[in-house]
Amino acid sequence: MTALVQAALRMRRTARSMWGLAAAFLLGAFVLTGFFLPDSRLGWGHLAWALAWAAVFGFRARVLARQGAEPRLAFELGLLLLVGVHALVQFRGGVASELYPLTYVAVAFVASFATGWAGASIVAFAATLDFGISFLAEHIADPLVLAAHAFFVLCFGALSFVFTRAEIIRVRRKSELELQAQQEKVRDETRLFRLVAPSSDGLRDEERLYETSVQEVHQALYHTLELLHRTLGLHTCMLLMPTADGEQLHIIELVTASDDIADGPFSLGSGAVGAAVRRKVTTNLQQIRPGYRGLCYYRGPGVVRSFLAVPVLEYGHFRAVLCADRLEDRPFTPQEEELLRNSTSHILRSVENERIFVQLERSKREQEILYRGSRALSTARNQDAVMEVGLATAAEIASHDFAAITEYQTEGRRHIVRRAIGEKALDFQGLRFRDNASLTAMVVKNRHYLPYRGEFDAKQQVLFTKKARLKGMESLLVLPLVVREEPIGTLIVAAKAEQAFATSARETLQALANQLAVAMANARAVRLLEEKATTDGLTGCLNKRAFLAEMEQKILAAQRFRRKLSLIVTDLDHFKAVNDTYGHASGDRVLRELGRVLRRVKRETDLVARFGGEEFCVLCEETDARGARLLAERVREELENTEVATELGPLKVTASLGVATFPDDASTAEALFAQSDKALYEAKSRGRNQVCAI
Ligand code: GH3
Ligand code: MG
Ligand code: MG
Repeated sequence: MTALVQAALRMRRTARSMWGLAAAFLLGAFVLTGFFLPDSRLGWGHLAWALAWAAVFGFRARVLARQGAEPRLAFELGLLLLVGVHALVQFRGGVASELYPLTYVAVAFVASFATGWAGASIVAFAATLDFGISFLAEHIADPLVLAAHAFFVLCFGALSFVFTRAEIIRVRRKSELELQAQQEKVRDETRLFRLVAPSSDGLRDEERLYETSVQEVHQALYHTLELLHRTLGLHTCMLLMPTADGEQLHIIELVTASDDIADGPFSLGSGAVGAAVRRKVTTNLQQIRPGYRGLCYYRGPGVVRSFLAVPVLEYGHFRAVLCADRLEDRPFTPQEEELLRNSTSHILRSVENERIFVQLERSKREQEILYRGSRALSTARNQDAVMEVGLATAAEIASHDFAAITEYQTEGRRHIVRRAIGEKALDFQGLRFRDNASLTAMVVKNRHYLPYRGEFDAKQQVLFTKKARLKGMESLLVLPLVVREEPIGTLIVAAKAEQAFATSARETLQALANQLAVAMANARAVRLLEEKATTDGLTGCLNKRAFLAEMEQKILAAQRFRRKLSLIVTDLDHFKAVNDTYGHASGDRVLRELGRVLRRVKRETDLVARFGGEEFCVLCEETDARGARLLAERVREELENTEVATELGPLKVTASLGVATFPDDASTAEALFAQSDKALYEAKSRGRNQVCAI
């Protein structure tokens, strides 16, 4: 149903635009036949045409005005206008008439309005129409004249089109620049009112916040000035503030009856205003002579007769100057002076209120980020996830160009850059260094952030080591990660901008660092627990349970991919005697030594486990009996050549090893164990300190 309605509407719309076009073509056809040439006298036919044309054109132009420039409509109106002009020209005598240049004007006019395909089509149509009229109605056959006509039509059309586009681009560029200047002004004023630390540039919602705050301040100022203007009968009342560099004064807000106010900025120390600024005292001028030029804010010679300037001081620092003047020679009384002085404190208060509001808004925003961050930290499962969340949250709190998390290992007194992001991050990722005089080491030692005020001097200060230098950063914060009074590392953020980390951002970052520290410590504890559950405490090898679980998987994989897999079992020779002679502690040392030898000799993918007592196993993936025997032989040799220190002097031990291979010797894990045990028994019975395979 709706499709039907839509189709009907579309048809109606097409039909409507069709009759506009039809009218244009019909009139065009008449013009082509020379219908309007002056030899046919002015008659009812001409009048009817003129009325019909005006009606159609007027109606379609109204639609265009209502709907906006739609290319089809613009095209249609363009055609109507062109044929209309040609009809008029023809009526006045055609090519030879004084109105003929009007056809070029019409082309230029239409081309400047029509956009896209409509513009190009209209120009093409105009050239064709001109050609048709010249040839058919005026019987001009000279190709040179015809070509000249076509050339001029195309020229007018194209030039007008190009100039219009160029103008549009110029206007657009100009308004972009104006917009930029406006934004720059807001930024300057936020700084002027001390609403913001310069680092916060570029943060969208913060910019909006500052913009509204600047407006609020202006409004409050304007009301104060207006009140003074009215009650004291002033000519001008204005507040001037020093520019960011503190070298000049510019007008912040004013209420005046004068139309001769200069734009500024003004030199800081000149004239009567300068006197108030320099001496930081109220300046009261009376009986000013006409033409006095000491008031910088008037463009021409002065017309005012009395003037008062009150400096606005905040904790003794010059912040602004409030100026008031009057046309009449009526000096400012002490009461009026008092009133103006009181207004300055009101002005200061309104700026201060806005400043507090901005700070509150800002810390609210930071608190929200922190809250989200701490929730994400509490759900992060491992150390990597914790660090990722930590760095992402830090980036939200303070935008930076580099960030890192270091870990401090108390035993080796070493620092490790666990994670680095941003500029040149890869140069630092995984960097290890001993306790040194670097900022990172100092922060860990003192458990206090560095450097002072977040200002970084890359030439003097070292972040990690003298070799691995962080370059191009002007701001830096190294914050300690402390858990239960124990430093476990640092959180680092750095930025290229100066003074990038305001006090409030630093405090929020430290709050984040405290939560990050706890999350890191928890993740580390979980990792240790996991390791404990799968490894043997004495030797650091896998324990039996973990080994069996892994072995199950590896056998399944070997089965699936038809690969070989070998198991080596190891048993120390006469170990009971070692314990009996050298003591249990020395026996343990021997076990640790064997674990070390096994892990040293094995390949990356092999698994080593202590199976219990003095029995060890090695599972070798993609290894046949020959390869496993070679490996076992290396283990045997290395152990034979290893000396273990005991209280009774150096001790050497040997081991016997049994090897079996899947699927050649056995097709299940149990059978593989049984077969390699058998081989081990064989090795023991053949005299020990040797390798046997099944
Ligand atoms: P064989 O050459 O036949 O293997 O002789 P053996 O003395 O090594 O005999 P067996 O393998 O049966 O001996 C196991 C001994 O290993 C018993 C025990 O004293 C010792 N042992 C088992 N676990 C530990 C341990 O954790 N620490 C120490 N120090 N000794 C252990
Ligand atoms: Mg044994
Ligand atoms: Mg033994």
